[in-house]
Amino acid sequence: MFLNIISSIKSFLYQKNMLVYSYMHLNTKVEQLNKVGDVLKKRLHKLGVQTVFDLLHFFPFRYEDYSEIKHIADLQDGIQVSIQGKIELINSKRSPRKRTLLTEAIVRDESDQIRVIWFGQAYIAKVLHVGDEVCLSGQVKQDMFGLQMVSPEYEKIVSHKKNTTHTGRIVAMYHLTAGITHKQMRFLMEQALRALDELVEWIPQDICHMADIVSYADAIRMIHVPDSFDDITIATKRLKFDELFVLQLRAEMIRRSMKQYKAIKLVFQQDKIQDFVSSLSFKLTVDQKKSAWQILQDIARDYPMNRLLEGDVGSGKTVVAGLSLYNTVLNNAQGIIMAPTEILAKQHIDSLISLFHGRGVCIGILTRSMCALYCDDTYEDISRAEMLKKIKQAEITLMVGTHALLSDEVVFKNLALVIVDEQHRFGVEQRKTIREKSGDAQTVPHFLSMTATPIPRSYALALYGDLDISMIKELPHGRKKIITRLVDSHNREKAYQFIHDQVKQGRQVFVICPLIDVSDIATARNVSLSNNSEKKSVMKEYETLKTKIFPHLRIDFLHGKMKSKDKDKTMQAFVEGNIDILVATSVVEVGVNIPNASVMMIEGAERFGLAQLHQFRGRVGRSSYQSYCFLFSESESTIAQERLSLFEKTSDGFVLAEHDLKMRGPGEVYGTAQSGQMHLRMANLQDYDLVVLCQGIARDIDFEKYPSLMERVQEWERGVHLE
Ligand code: ADP
Ligand code: MG
Repeated sequence: MFLNIISSIKSFLYQKNMLVYSYMHLNTKVEQLNKVGDVLKKRLHKLGVQTVFDLLHFFPFRYEDYSEIKHIADLQDGIQVSIQGKIELINSKRSPRKRTLLTEAIVRDESDQIRVIWFGQAYIAKVLHVGDEVCLSGQVKQDMFGLQMVSPEYEKIVSHKKNTTHTGRIVAMYHLTAGITHKQMRFLMEQALRALDELVEWIPQDICHMADIVSYADAIRMIHVPDSFDDITIATKRLKFDELFVLQLRAEMIRRSMKQYKAIKLVFQQDKIQDFVSSLSFKLTVDQKKSAWQILQDIARDYPMNRLLEGDVGSGKTVVAGLSLYNTVLNNAQGIIMAPTEILAKQHIDSLISLFHGRGVCIGILTRSMCALYCDDTYEDISRAEMLKKIKQAEITLMVGTHALLSDEVVFKNLALVIVDEQHRFGVEQRKTIREKSGDAQTVPHFLSMTATPIPRSYALALYGDLDISMIKELPHGRKKIITRLVDSHNREKAYQFIHDQVKQGRQVFVICPLIDVSDIATARNVSLSNNSEKKSVMKEYETLKTKIFPHLRIDFLHGKMKSKDKDKTMQAFVEGNIDILVATSVVEVGVNIPNASVMMIEGAERFGLAQLHQFRGRVGRSSYQSYCFLFSESESTIAQERLSLFEKTSDGFVLAEHDLKMRGPGEVYGTAQSGQMHLRMANLQDYDLVVLCQGIARDIDFEKYPSLMERVQEWERGVHLE
């Protein structure tokens, strides 16, 4: 009660402009601000704004430049300006036809006068009076009576106030809910900014200096009431820095915590490795060499490697993995490589067998249905019990497999290197299990994650900041370009004829459809039933191709709702060449190698991201046969057409991924789970230089010296957990 009285006295004094600088704290509730009643309070709450602190962190999304104040005599049709002058006449009336309320005024400065008109804002005539000095900002328009300003922002010029808030300057525009005006928002912001001194600076001054950023409080002030566009740039940099820096600090803390673990040192076996490399049937590319070198250096250390190997489809990651595994085996330690599916695991062991031919390396494979050992040029199925025993005693040093390798029963003796292909299929929990599997509680295996998803470096740094990154950007020489064509619907017959010819020459074909069957249409996102391309479902297409188009060819289908046993069976049949045309959903996206496949035909292509289309395309062109990728799209949209024609022209996965990211954002491209976690409001991952700057600073930081940084990271983590 008593407090209430005090606060109403305060707000009375405040309204009378007698008490300006008191009673504003970061935790002051918005309803305690001047002119906030119940209705406005609710509307602010709807925007997530409860306190002065929230208000200060409610950032504008754009600005209007009203900073240029012109003489009325100099105004021209169509320009956006501010004028300052005196009201000579003002009154409101109903418009004759529409019965809406108009307020008309004449404003004069020393050069001339102009008509001003506002629609429907009844209160204006109550606020502005003849004789008032005003500043008006808005657009100038010409009508048959001459120039006028229509519904400009207005503000009385008060002699004791230095600056205007809504006019005659750059003004902030906010994303608001119905019922809150920009004017109200700026008025509230003006009050809130008085609590600015309470904002705690969490970045130490020398780091601010190093990063060339302004203080936190300055940034908040400049973002809401900038004096220039430079101010906005400066403020934005600081606010983006805050978001990206906390991510990099966290990543750096994780990186350093990894260094506290021990790992088995895998000494570089120079002679044998060199011999291995020179016996390959091809020369390693520069990127392959560099990546291999980075890995070999990492695993020679006594703390665990934590590295991501990125390389486009077909860039030759397997040989890099193989080389690292070979070095592991040469150190008499164990190494494993895991794939997300059984078929991929099988392909890995086949690749390793041919890579290590004649080197006396035994390789085991363990998946749900395979348990075999390859030794001395022969495959031998062995019992699971025997396999487990051999692994436990390190009689087998090299294992290939799926998740099955992570089962509790599989115990290693000295697991030193874990390689995971297409890691995004493995959850964080599984990565943790991997780390605990070394066989010795004191040590953690070196970890290498491989992905063909092209992730531009800045994204990779932000998404996987705790990992070191190796990139294979160049494809091996002499690869034939995959001929990519966006096919018009009236050329569909020709495409089918072409496919037919390819099959007759012994090749195989993929047909990708966006959906599984027609009933999926109702549940799929962004779908309007009228759109034809959405009806291109796997099952329907399969029926059509099988019964009408290619009745005499061997056709089968594959989709994610099939049992994994059935999926593997179908895929295996395709690998073995027993299927000519495979109609599938995006399940074929990852890694499978079918050298004999030469045509990738994609229905409803506009439905897929470019990076994803690129993955599909990478399923063909894996041999010396000229390969083709045909895109079908019934979308008339120009954006869709442009995207697809970019795809037609571009074979670089990174370029395509960048484009996707710009158009669709990281959530769409890499899954919301990963990018949503980052809590980016100001920054986005295109801010490459800033990401690099943040990482550079984070890597050199002495956390002991700056406890505020650690606190901030913890606070950030709590924030993530609370959601
Ligand atoms: P990905 O990175 O998609 O896993 P792979 O490792 O499967 O690619 O390699 C694709 C093909 O390229 C394999 O047949 C492999 O033997 C071959 N390859 C790898 N490196 C080179 C190279 N430097 N020159 C020529 N061919 C290579
Ligand atoms: Mg691969």
